[in-house]
Amino acid sequence: MMTKKYYRERTESKKVIKEEVRRTNIPKKKKESITGKVLTYKPNMTVSEVAEGLNISNAAIMKKLMELGVLTSINQVIDRDTIELVAVDLGFEIEDEVITDMTRFDEMVFEDKQEDLVSRPPIVTVMGHVDHGKTTLLDTIRNTRVAKGEAGGITQHIGAYQVVVNDKKITFIDTPGHAAFTEMRARGAQTTDIVVLVVAADDGPMPQTFEAIDHAKSAKAPIIVAINKIDRPNSNPDLVKTELSKVGLTPEDWGGDTPYVSISALKAEGIDSLLEVIVLLAEIEDYKANPKRLATGVVVEAKLDKGRGVVATLIIENGTLKVGDNIVCGNTYGKIRSMTDGTKTRYREALPSQPVEVTGLMEVPLAGDRFVAIEDERQARQISEERASRQREGEISKQRKASLQTLFKQQEDALNELNLIIKGDTQGTIEALKTSLEKIDIEGLHVNIVRSSVGAITESDVNLASASEAIIIGFNVRPIAMVRDMAKQAKIEIRLYNVIYKILEDIEAALKGMLAPEFEEVVIGQAEVREIFKISRLGTIAGCYLSDGYATRNAGVRVLRDGIVVYEGKLASLKRFKDDVREVKQGYECGMSVENFNDIKEGDIFELFISKEV
Ligand code: GDP
Repeated sequence: MMTKKYYRERTESKKVIKEEVRRTNIPKKKKESITGKVLTYKPNMTVSEVAEGLNISNAAIMKKLMELGVLTSINQVIDRDTIELVAVDLGFEIEDEVITDMTRFDEMVFEDKQEDLVSRPPIVTVMGHVDHGKTTLLDTIRNTRVAKGEAGGITQHIGAYQVVVNDKKITFIDTPGHAAFTEMRARGAQTTDIVVLVVAADDGPMPQTFEAIDHAKSAKAPIIVAINKIDRPNSNPDLVKTELSKVGLTPEDWGGDTPYVSISALKAEGIDSLLEVIVLLAEIEDYKANPKRLATGVVVEAKLDKGRGVVATLIIENGTLKVGDNIVCGNTYGKIRSMTDGTKTRYREALPSQPVEVTGLMEVPLAGDRFVAIEDERQARQISEERASRQREGEISKQRKASLQTLFKQQEDALNELNLIIKGDTQGTIEALKTSLEKIDIEGLHVNIVRSSVGAITESDVNLASASEAIIIGFNVRPIAMVRDMAKQAKIEIRLYNVIYKILEDIEAALKGMLAPEFEEVVIGQAEVREIFKISRLGTIAGCYLSDGYATRNAGVRVLRDGIVVYEGKLASLKRFKDDVREVKQGYECGMSVENFNDIKEGDIFELFISKEV
């Protein structure tokens, strides 16, 4: 349908694109060198590679390094700063590797000329504790602000929308909660500019409030606090401010730099102020993009639609996306057939920060996949095919994830912080652990605690670990099987402990690059306690169902209640019906008893493990 709005949008964006000169996505070019001697720096360069690049012998570079107080072997990786010192000393300029291989477009830096950059709308994510009003806020903003009139308002949610405030646009990611944000970040997409943190005034900051703060901080996104539900009689905005000041979000009127806005999402009060604060913050931050080139951006949502084929919501981060453009998106490609925004408005062009639902992709991409528009259709297809086949071969490495064993290597890369997420059974132990860990300083290497909280290890911990390349430390707590699988897939290391000094030892050893565990604990299975039998002679027998893996008679067992370890010991017996058995497999029922422990309850989970030499 051709609407007035359609024409208006079209002429508006035409104006911007009129003096279009080059739309090609050309990766950043190499600098001209003044001295003519250039060393190209690639991540993880070894001493001998650097020597080769500097055209000197291994012995000569070792000597140079020794003069700088660095003792190495030729195969050791050295950090960029050290390389630069040596290079400059020899009259070389150092320059970062420029990736020109288009199959690695998501790692590329495309350079824009300063004069091509114009302001773009901020991209905002709403986060906060469950039930504090995120969905209501997003709905209220959408209903009161989006496309009133002409186009007939939103007909469907596409995962993001744009509103206009005082002639300035704001883009909202329309999926409340942390999942979307962290998933996208975990996949390398740093799309959110500003986080609106919703805190209910009658409830105050809750666990997920702090989680959201962790996420925003680690993404370096500024936070605006929206104190919600101020219409409630028992609301206490000052308490919210006091509590959040303790974690560094001091309100502006208390001398800090965090904007706070009091709102009622339900009654649509204070929404204008909130939007104005967002616009103001965006003006200060001054987000820029270049509408004159081919678009790059990220997938917010994607699905297969019966009628329309693959439908994906994209947010343009840079450039202008046009109907007819060829794009490579994750491991698939296509030609943009149509673009809408969830209303009936259709677009020919989409500008930076604009969310659009597009059709025309060959396959469904993943949320968080990056896309890039490419001049040539054949090239787009080749690139996506190449990427798909490399991925099958496991070559396009996921983001490098931290693990204690690989830390030694990273240490050589001068990565001087080990990110940790600490989950424990009580606040007291966590505090004690935190204090001890933060004190560790081994030749400038130290621990950075990204999150510490009471409770079982959850999906959200794994997501945060993935996004911030952290290791998860569980003290007397455990992940459920699903979370463990997820961590395994994401290559996140979860280390479980029940003695504090052991954690400190391991972390210190890891920081020293000396970690060599002799025995490794291997979790072999998980069982649910479904029934309890008290037998005076034998104690408590748990009627169990093996929900995962297997159980063996000599296995160690941890009794978990709501994700918390209530007992750790050994199995005393393993029976099928009346018979003692050696092993029980997943999907079977069995009877188990735990040595010296009778306080088993229905609903407990038995985690079964064995020790294995590594
Ligand atoms: P979410 O889990 O953070 O997305 O929270 P919802 O938006 O689903 O809101 C949870 C509940 O709080 C719902 O029953 C809303 O109607 C209610 N709610 C949200 N905002 C307000 C508000 O400003 N005032 C009042 N009184 N209730 C609200």
